[in-house]
Amino acid sequence: MTTELTHYINGEHVKGTSGRFADVFNPATGEIQAKVPLASTAEVEAAVKIAAEVQPAWAAVNPQRRARVLMKFVDLLNRDMDKLAEALSREHGKTIPDAKGDVQRGLEVVEYCIGAPHLLKGEYTDSAGRGIDMYSMRQALGVTVGITPFNFPAMIPMWMFAPAIACGNSFILKPSERDPSVPLMLAELLEEAGLPKGVIQVVNGDKESVDALLYDPIVQSIGFVGSTPIAEYIYGTGCAQGKRVQCFGGAKNHMIIMPDADLDQAADALVGAGYGAAGERCMAISVAVPVGDETADRLIEKLIPRIDALKVGPYTAGNDVDYGPVVTSAAKQNILGLVQTGVDQGAELVVDGRDFSLQGYEEGFFVGPHLFDHVTPDMDIYKKEIFGPVLSTVRAKTYEDAIGLAMDHEYGNGTAIFTRDGDTARDFANRINIGMVGINVPIPVPLAYHTFGGWKKSVFGDLNQHGPDAFKFYTRTKTVTSRWPSGIKEGGEFSIPLMD
Ligand code: NAD
Repeated sequence: MTTELTHYINGEHVKGTSGRFADVFNPATGEIQAKVPLASTAEVEAAVKIAAEVQPAWAAVNPQRRARVLMKFVDLLNRDMDKLAEALSREHGKTIPDAKGDVQRGLEVVEYCIGAPHLLKGEYTDSAGRGIDMYSMRQALGVTVGITPFNFPAMIPMWMFAPAIACGNSFILKPSERDPSVPLMLAELLEEAGLPKGVIQVVNGDKESVDALLYDPIVQSIGFVGSTPIAEYIYGTGCAQGKRVQCFGGAKNHMIIMPDADLDQAADALVGAGYGAAGERCMAISVAVPVGDETADRLIEKLIPRIDALKVGPYTAGNDVDYGPVVTSAAKQNILGLVQTGVDQGAELVVDGRDFSLQGYEEGFFVGPHLFDHVTPDMDIYKKEIFGPVLSTVRAKTYEDAIGLAMDHEYGNGTAIFTRDGDTARDFANRINIGMVGINVPIPVPLAYHTFGGWKKSVFGDLNQHGPDAFKFYTRTKTVTSRWPSGIKEGGEFSIPLMD
């Protein structure tokens, strides 16, 4: 039986009234398991109105008390970890350990935001002029919005709403329509933790609801994570409406393997970073760049048995699975279509996962692992983000060719270098025009107290996600210059002061 999901408005689960719904699949079986309502402009406007009404009172709660709500929320996330991970895997398809990682990496940002009282402290200049003091404070923006992708349905919403709420904003989450259940559960848990009704709301929807949020004059800021074309659209439209906007887009992450690297370590890293979560990570490695033909030949030799040994299956198989299905049948067709262009354009398909099928799960959206060799920069599989279990090998003659390749690509989210030479690693970290760099670390996702963000077409906006940047994004600075007329120190007062 398909469940009808809801919105979460003013502390209540509310049925959709637009009459429009999207199917939510179980990617492992291909079955439709729920219908998610797609909000109309009127439904969005109603949520925004509530968010605006409750926000001033929330901003007036002192930062320490706001942080205590987040403290309690962390406890509840840990209490419900298994339940959240199961719901997440059922709609997304990722393995249970990976789903727990999705919750955990969000939870760590919530923990960081518990430091809000410290992070929100302003600046003060004593005696900026004679008898004049000057101080700056960070104040909440008001109604803030997050629009999130399918691939991290717990982590990315938390990266946005935790700092937004800690700063005293109200927050409207528009999660991906592919896997909306966990975001709804997170909103419930926040209220169980003591967040007043309406401070967090979840509006499910598609382009109509996104556009309603973009054009609503009450909305002060938009955070977006998703594909680059939509990031570009939301950034342009939101900025033109005078909102504060940050958008994080797609990726094509290169891993450079130097001839001196430990190739067993590099091959293990590539298999985890290339095929983990079926390649549906913005920090997945999708391009391997061995330097020199000998390095390339040896690397491919080491990769093939590791890829052949990968276990692909449903999350219900527990720890016995390395990665699960991709999110939809359309995603699967897109991946297989791109694999075909790779073959047609002359790349060598060394591991061919096209015929992959899993007994009992024939209708699931599983994609077998693929490895290409001799990929060149003009090919579609190199230029486009595939977002599937497909690793492309581009052979570079020299280190300069390898770094140049990564620098010339339009995306700049993450990258890695595997080498034993400190000088090469240091040069790479200094020169590369990419936001997150790993040295012998394949997926260099910064921890909560640093900031996360790419460069080039992987980002639109100035400030990164989480870390200190989030507290800048979700607040405005106000600077007060104050001078007081002479007071009591000028002489004693003998009558009761009348405060008029
Ligand atoms: P997507 O762009 O299709 O969707 C993201 C969000 O935008 C969803 O909430 C969706 O409902 C909404 N949306 C989709 N089409 C829209 C339209 N025409 N107008 C307005 N809103 C629209 O992305 P996805 O497939 O859910 O996620 C995968 C993408 O996200 C990949 O490109 C991946 O690299 C990227 N991603 C980037 C980061 C990062 O930090 N840079 C992190 C995770 C994912």
